[in-house]
Amino acid sequence: MKKYAEAFYKGRKWKKVSGLYMTQQHYVCERCGGVGCICHHKKYITPWNINNPDITLNTDNLECLCQECHNQEHMAKVSRAIFDDDGNMTGVQESAEIREYRKALEALEDLTGKKVSG
Ligand SMILES: [Zn+2]
Ligand SMILES: [Zn+2]
Repeated sequence: MKKYAEAFYKGRKWKKVSGLYMTQQHYVCERCGGVGCICHHKKYITPWNINNPDITLNTDNLECLCQECHNQEHMAKVSRAIFDDDGNMTGVQESAEIREYRKALEALEDLTGKKVSG
């Protein structure tokens, strides 16, 4: 869990909203029908929207996902595997989106002197 989001995820409001939402979805993954265990934010939480309940506590922005679909969602956005000619995975390439995000986080850290990424 990202540091800046810790207080939010531990807060009463989130527990209430996410618990209610997951119950409404009967803990069924909205993508594969498996066992939903993660209340995912469609619009990812960032240091800039963490205090915006329209994003963080809006059930329109929530999705009930199983562990696997949740991993896929984030992995797909975050990075892409790189394979050599023999088909061996040699590394991962970060998407442009995550590079932008990291740059923005670093800028924020410079500004506030606080470590938020990592
Ligand atoms: Zn699933
Ligand atoms: Zn998620």
